[in-house]
Amino acid sequence: DVAKGYILYLEDISVSFDGFKAINELNLYIKEGELRCIIGPNGAGKTTMMDIITGKTRPDQGSAWFGQNINLLELSEPEIAQAGIGRKFQKPTVFEQLSVFANLELSMAGEKGVWTTLTATLTGEQRDRIDNVLVKIGLIEHRYQDAGSLSHGQKQWLEIGMLLMQNPKLLLVDEPVAGMTHQEMDRTGELLTSLAGEHSIVLVEHDMDFVRSLAKQVTVLHQGSVLAEGSMAQVQADPRVVEVYLGE
Ligand code: ADP
Repeated sequence: DVAKGYILYLEDISVSFDGFKAINELNLYIKEGELRCIIGPNGAGKTTMMDIITGKTRPDQGSAWFGQNINLLELSEPEIAQAGIGRKFQKPTVFEQLSVFANLELSMAGEKGVWTTLTATLTGEQRDRIDNVLVKIGLIEHRYQDAGSLSHGQKQWLEIGMLLMQNPKLLLVDEPVAGMTHQEMDRTGELLTSLAGEHSIVLVEHDMDFVRSLAKQVTVLHQGSVLAEGSMAQVQADPRVVEVYLGE
């Protein structure tokens, strides 16, 4: 029985690679609308955990539920994306030669093929949806610019916008602020905070100052399981967490 109010419910998940337990009896419960930060030293299992949620990697044991009744372990990778889980990798992969607007247009959920998308006229409603996302990601004034001419930070926001065009319920975001200026980091924090509520977000992040600035619940992964959970101040005061980070 899956508890109510959770968008993601991972229980007792383990996965081994050649006998090495990359994920070891992991439990992770994400509430609807929550923004959760996942930290942990290199090799802690953060990427593998994201791969399990998206169906790229299958666990050896455990259960993984999305919302009340979607069993992630029974779905293929495309089916999981279709069900409403979007993932943003660290490096932005926008279409550099196309405008910001066209990037969002191509990412719009729907049955239309790329050719139809580029040749057909958008409905007013579709235009509004794109404009809406442009405002959210702060790129409305850059909409007719080639994506290739954007700054690194703006490309990251555009890619988040491209995910939003698919109406995901859960966003998985991998180190979005790597390589950003301080100003871009602040803006990214505001963006993620504003998206939480309507969406649920799992954020893997190395930058501790950024995680602290978000002031959300933090989960510390270590050796494939949860070492500590709480506010950044709480987990940083935990001697086991201190030990793990000093040993890195
Ligand atoms: P993190 O993202 O926290 O740095 P990873 O999930 O990438 O950690 O890796 C966890 C552990 O699992 C590491 O020791 C890594 O070497 C190992 N690992 C991850 N993927 C594979 C794989 N496909 N084959 C073998 N070992 C892997």
